Amino acid sequence: MKIQEIRCHLMQAGAPPQTGWTGTGKSALATSRNWLFVTVRADNGLVGTGEGSGWPRAVAAAVQDLAPLLVGEDARATERLWQRMRVACMGHGQTGVVGMGAINAIDMALWDLKAQALGVPLYELLGGATRSKVPFYVHAATPEAALAAVQAGAQGIKVGGIAKVVERAHAVRAAIGPDIDLMCDLHGPPWLAPADAVAIGRELEPLKLLFLEEPVAPDDLRGWRLVRDKVALPLAGGERLATLQDMQPFLAEGLLDVVQPDGGRFGGITQIRKLAGMAEALSVTVAPHSGSLGPVAEVGMVHLLSAIPNALVLERMDPDWEGRTQVMDSGLRVEPGFLSAGSGPGLDLRLREDFIAAHPSQRNVGLATGGWNAGTDHESVYLQARRPRARIGRDLENP
Ligand SMILES: [Mg+2]
Repeated sequence: MKIQEIRCHLMQAGAPPQTGWTGTGKSALATSRNWLFVTVRADNGLVGTGEGSGWPRAVAAAVQDLAPLLVGEDARATERLWQRMRVACMGHGQTGVVGMGAINAIDMALWDLKAQALGVPLYELLGGATRSKVPFYVHAATPEAALAAVQAGAQGIKVGGIAKVVERAHAVRAAIGPDIDLMCDLHGPPWLAPADAVAIGRELEPLKLLFLEEPVAPDDLRGWRLVRDKVALPLAGGERLATLQDMQPFLAEGLLDVVQPDGGRFGGITQIRKLAGMAEALSVTVAPHSGSLGPVAEVGMVHLLSAIPNALVLERMDPDWEGRTQVMDSGLRVEPGFLSAGSGPGLDLRLREDFIAAHPSQRNVGLATGGWNAGTDHESVYLQARRPRARIGRDLENP
């Protein structure tokens, strides 16, 4: 089964009706979300599909650059081809999530191809099913939105952002009661000082969170150590990291209870599966980051979480743009609060290329809006207002 052709399918994804990510419900996703799908065609006529995030337009260029290294190679050699792509990225420096997004998309498509060729669902190649369905959680910024999501079956609710996050999380907990899992994501903004993250974390302790996510930025290991030392909550993170080596200090130092590889930019099934093994040895569970991704990466993560023993939960944007269900035909089964892998071979999906072509990429960057303190949206990170308490530190232009 030789690789014949690798194609990128880049598109503009529409705005979700509300994101629940932020205190205002506004988000950069509304105007600047791209989805990048990649298909790999083999000489036996089979087509494998994957997805790459991590800056989709840049990732698409990287996929096209990598393609000549793969055409003519045996599509079943997932590990060897993964290593070949990794080495090929070296000359461009540490390419982070862009390089790993490209590898992710191609690798996922190769695993899809291999499982199709063997006539089995992908999870069978990953050890077989340990569970028949994967629970998911959704985002909610208000008690009303949280309650509606719970009534629709969501197994957990996540509150995000910094602005009034303690107040919002307490209000959501009061609305949903103690039996629904609650998470809080501070999104680790570069301007949030570790001492403030500790203060927020301590105020969240009574809520018995499933996890506190990215209390500080992923490049601030000192800050993570401080939060770990001072806050009695399980910690989650990893969505902005690209390699096993990036994850290594977080796991080796015991800074994470839940690891969150991005399903579109962490090197695909090959590397995410290895990360799950590293995590298993440390009693760390896996909850892939998936909120802004398209549906192909989601299907890939459902197969992985169906197989690994330490799966916790999958993030889901629900409700999302209606195009999410129109971009592909798939065997994915959706029921309230749970996703189940299709029983067809591989990922059990096929892109609708006409629909993708009708939504060409137009804009791929946007500033985060809402959810931060006033004045922190559009400025240099070193000039932004820190977390204010009374007067000092408040943004004078946007009080
Ligand atoms: Mg997050």
